[in-house]
Amino acid sequence: MTVCPVSPNTVLANALHHAEDILTPRILAASPERVVLVVGAQINGVPHVGTSLVQSLAFAMAARLRDRFAIPTEVLFSALDNAPYELTTDPASGHRYQRAYAQALGHEALADLVTGLYQPLFTALSRHLKIPHRVETYSRQQADEHFRRTWLRLQSRLDAARWWLAPSTGIPHLRVPCPAPGCGWAEKDAERTQVHLIDRETARITAVCLHHGSYEATLTPAGDAYLDLATLYRNAVKELALSDPHGTLHVMVKGGDWVFGSHLVDEALQSVGLTRSQLPARLFCPQVVTDTGAKLSKSLIREGRALLPEGATNWMLDTRQWPGTTTEYAEQLLCLTDTLLSDPRHFFRSYSASEIGRMMTAPARQERSQSMNDTTDRVHELHLYREYFDLVAAGAKTIEVRVKHPHLADLAAGDTIRFRVKGTDETCEVKVERVTEYPDFEALLDSEGPANVNPTTTRDRQLANIRAIYPPEKEALGALAIQMQRGPA
Ligand SMILES: [Zn+2]
Repeated sequence: MTVCPVSPNTVLANALHHAEDILTPRILAASPERVVLVVGAQINGVPHVGTSLVQSLAFAMAARLRDRFAIPTEVLFSALDNAPYELTTDPASGHRYQRAYAQALGHEALADLVTGLYQPLFTALSRHLKIPHRVETYSRQQADEHFRRTWLRLQSRLDAARWWLAPSTGIPHLRVPCPAPGCGWAEKDAERTQVHLIDRETARITAVCLHHGSYEATLTPAGDAYLDLATLYRNAVKELALSDPHGTLHVMVKGGDWVFGSHLVDEALQSVGLTRSQLPARLFCPQVVTDTGAKLSKSLIREGRALLPEGATNWMLDTRQWPGTTTEYAEQLLCLTDTLLSDPRHFFRSYSASEIGRMMTAPARQERSQSMNDTTDRVHELHLYREYFDLVAAGAKTIEVRVKHPHLADLAAGDTIRFRVKGTDETCEVKVERVTEYPDFEALLDSEGPANVNPTTTRDRQLANIRAIYPPEKEALGALAIQMQRGPA
């Protein structure tokens, strides 16, 4: 792989064999019937490469978890149409007001926007990886009865959570846009918004519109008053609503800049009674950063407060400008996610815009495109000694042992291996069912069971044989156990 990055070791990377192992403890503890990876994006202008990266990693991780744990996985995309569309200042009070996309554009225009900006990429990713996905707007989410009941429930216990959700003021902001026809403005920082909990199912909100003065709204589970919440507050309600155990494990997929905010949400959720095992699982993805180490920000560049980083190109800020088809873009992103997920060192770090640009360009494209367009699976050709070949051909050897040479780094379930007896034309094909990496051969044999590797000899004899083939510096690359199924002759 010529495009592979060079990544330093870290405590976390060193503790893991695979990036997806970060989710293993939660999956083992919950034994879910399915896993939903939840990824969101603010609907404010066109997506940039950081957004695409997190979204494609959600799909790629979903595919890995499905293959690894044999459970159905899917991706849920939250389109945050409560993002501000326009801002203004009330000349009377000096308070800032905002109108969100949901109120400014209306349902149909919004649906067109989400479909135009995101659906083609999701469809391509979904099709390539055979991972189903759903798109849900925030407008739809807040209208959901369960979501509103969850908010009402949290409201009655807000004293326990308020300082986690708003550590500077203790007042988590809530916005109910002015219901006057064609208005929809709301006080951005909710200075004059008051919440009165009437009973378990009813809250009365009073607020002040800059055009229409005081107004009142009643929030009930089935009512239609629009409920907008400040970001941490909204995440807490959303995650609380998802914490009902119905055999589904939700994994919140976000960029690395979310780590610190998520700690606050976790504390808020625990302060209102959730146990650690009821918290959602979290997956933080690599950030795309500029030369200064700051997150690549479209708005800072647009406002002229930051420069387009060296080596970055226009499509990174506006992915519609990618010089190719959506399918090619998806393929290229999946090459990139393959690389990032191939080693924990490549996953738990940030990338400069120019490094992302380098990895998103040519060499890998061909390879992945071929594997994606082929109706047949990828075939790896490997040599075998006669004695092992015969065991494989007879179906008696189900685990093959290799060191993690670069040419085997992308070996995955679903691939085909064509074994060949060295110096002959005799071949035998097997289907790869699973690939597991171990730090050394001993750990591999003990975990996989020596009889699966070679039923005709002892563990210690096998260890000696393997080490006769691979010297210590090869073993140090990592030991791969390849579980295989004898295919049709
Ligand atoms: Zn109004």
